[in-house]
Amino acid sequence: MIEDTFRHKGLRERLSEELRAKGITDEKVLEAIRTVPRHFFVDPSLDALAYEDRALPIACGQTISHPHTVAFQTQLLGVKPNDKILEVGTGSGYQASILAVMGARVLTIERHDELFQIAQQPISRLKYFVRFFHGDGYKGIPTSAPFDKILITCGAPMVPPDLLKQLKIGGVMVIPVGNENYEMRRITKLSDTETKEETFGNFSFVPMLEKKQGGVNIFL
Ligand code: SAH
Repeated sequence: MIEDTFRHKGLRERLSEELRAKGITDEKVLEAIRTVPRHFFVDPSLDALAYEDRALPIACGQTISHPHTVAFQTQLLGVKPNDKILEVGTGSGYQASILAVMGARVLTIERHDELFQIAQQPISRLKYFVRFFHGDGYKGIPTSAPFDKILITCGAPMVPPDLLKQLKIGGVMVIPVGNENYEMRRITKLSDTETKEETFGNFSFVPMLEKKQGGVNIFL
């Protein structure tokens, strides 16, 4: 079984200081970076790289985002304890864990069955509060809506209308929008018909793809 050693803890301290130097100011986000053992979420052969600020390969040709991207999106979301947050794109489960250690109630949805299965292993070992769903993130999880916050961790061609519907009024969505290069947007839902949009520069992401079959399989 993978261990969490003093060396790993030291590397997390260093990563958190590196992210601070790159402009992350939210102390709760930096604390979450120091808490979650990122090396549990990648292949053991990548252990030595887990605390560098870089994206790493995971199963199904996907990637675990740069720690800076994870921290930046989390900071934009403005996570508060008890927030009900939908994450689209579970991937490794690392981002979901960051939200969970900040006290959020996390629901995360992934289209690849293999990742949906694999991500649950470290999170159940770490006993974080995350509920996993296998399905199409474009459709969200209507039966659990509305959400305080929605975080999209794959690059979307547009803001999915179903996700906007599932956001509370006053709620916040953070979503990279574009095509190959994605512009980070923060959307605040002001009313059923009005939103406020802010943009925060360009990032790279794996694309948000459509899952053809409908429905959501729930796994608690
Ligand atoms: N948050 C992840 C990052 C994973 S990369 C982490 O912390 O590791 C983005 C993920 O989005 C990939 O796993 C990809 O399979 C998933 N994805 C892409 N399109 C999707 C869709 N329509 N619905 C759900 N997940 C999707």
